[in-house]
Amino acid sequence: MLKISNPDLNAATSNMCAILERQKRAHLAHGPLSLDERTEWIGRLIALLVNNSDAIADTISMDFGNRTRELSLLGDVAGSIGSLKYARAHLEEWMQPAIHDGGFPDAKASVEYTPVGVVGVLSPWNFPVNLTFAPLASIIAAGNRAMIKPSELTPRTSLLIARLIGEAFDESEIAVVLGDTEVAVEFSKLRFDHMLYTGSTSVGRQVMRAAADELVPVTLELGGKCPVIVSATAPIADAAARIMTIKTLNAGQICLAPDYAMLPEEHVEPFVTAARLATSAMFPTLLDNPDYTSIINERHELRLRGLLEDAKARGARVVEINPARETFGAHRLGYRMAPALVVDPPADCKLLADEIFGPILPILTYKTVGDAIAYVNGRERPLALYYFGTDAAEERHVLDRTQSGGVTVNDIMAHALCESLPFGGVGASGIGAYHGKSGFINFSHARAIFHQSKAPEAEYALRAPFGEPTRQYLALAISK
Ligand code: NAD
Repeated sequence: MLKISNPDLNAATSNMCAILERQKRAHLAHGPLSLDERTEWIGRLIALLVNNSDAIADTISMDFGNRTRELSLLGDVAGSIGSLKYARAHLEEWMQPAIHDGGFPDAKASVEYTPVGVVGVLSPWNFPVNLTFAPLASIIAAGNRAMIKPSELTPRTSLLIARLIGEAFDESEIAVVLGDTEVAVEFSKLRFDHMLYTGSTSVGRQVMRAAADELVPVTLELGGKCPVIVSATAPIADAAARIMTIKTLNAGQICLAPDYAMLPEEHVEPFVTAARLATSAMFPTLLDNPDYTSIINERHELRLRGLLEDAKARGARVVEINPARETFGAHRLGYRMAPALVVDPPADCKLLADEIFGPILPILTYKTVGDAIAYVNGRERPLALYYFGTDAAEERHVLDRTQSGGVTVNDIMAHALCESLPFGGVGASGIGAYHGKSGFINFSHARAIFHQSKAPEAEYALRAPFGEPTRQYLALAISK
């Protein structure tokens, strides 16, 4: 397996510090990027993706063993281009100062969204291009420079990203540094003006600790267990098909994948049958099927198999969906694993503890929707919550009584594909959000600017000696 390693951590760290200093100096010397410059940088990023779409899809596939070509083109290439084009189309409007009431007729109060400077980006392996380039849409729209450390788990893709960015941008504009976890740790200690980390919640905590030492503001795009509440009113076959579509997309290695589903007891068997049918229709075979993505590496495959073994050992019913009855193991397309449903796993099952991040769906039962809500609220706040049903009052109740980064009703993940909506978590699933205008604001500093009035009260109100005008003002201000 190709590995990114750094024989000399000190040299790697000095190199990162030098690039950061260069970018900071360039930012100060140049001042905020103009509308035209931001548009041109975004155009360069779009061109890079368009011109290299095939190479990107091929390279991600090599890193995964097999990564569905259409998924890479849709999720990594087209998805990134969509974010960049949306930012380009709205940039001028977003950059306008927001005019506020200055209190006096001739005072002027406004908020200008100014670039923060240099943003550090630590990106993960599961959508290695999208989770680097979609944030860049917001970061560059806000007029910043960026330093990126892509994942060591997709080494070929990270190398490709470094080469393509290196060809299109000067290091003082956007730079990519490569390295393993040790380099990532040093990267997270740098004095960026803002840091974006996308990855697991446990590493997110470490990144935030490192950033705290330098008071670097962070955006954390983390993971967690995204619940699906299937109402008694939901059309079961439709819900099962939509849930399994995303549970098997990228083999479930998606932060927004449905982690577990909760159904009324009497709907479980129809759901299992429908999920089986829908999955078999998508994947009549699995082992050599290019539409099915492999598990990223052996460690993750063993972790996922371990979760299934643990569930079986604790008496849960495991329904493997393997229509052609293929035998899995070491394979030319990497680490392949059949989708599986786990019906009614006991509460102490490992499957129910941490984010699954693979093609396994636990199915839990509930008696009342209140029980399902209580189960969700007994856990960390998820990145997404999904509700399937046709009862508007019940849907409102679920939304009002739970918290999550985002919500899709009657489908999975769709809210995150709507570029104008903020994409981010809450609590343990993240801090901050990007996509659309939210991303522009997230990577900007909202600078308050006030032009003072010429009215005498504006000048004398705070100046001693305090006399009758101040007393009159206070009498007015301190009143009910
Ligand atoms: P990963 O292992 O690729 O790590 C992500 C980045 O963190 C990499 O660049 C890596 O070099 C760096 N890193 C690793 N250890 C570090 C450390 N100790 N200090 C600083 N940086 C470090 O990715 P992963 O964590 O396996 O990604 C999967 C997780 O990411 C899942 O939990 C998933 O839900 C989450 N995720 C979240 C989103 C989102 O947008 N919220 C998107 C994708 C994935």
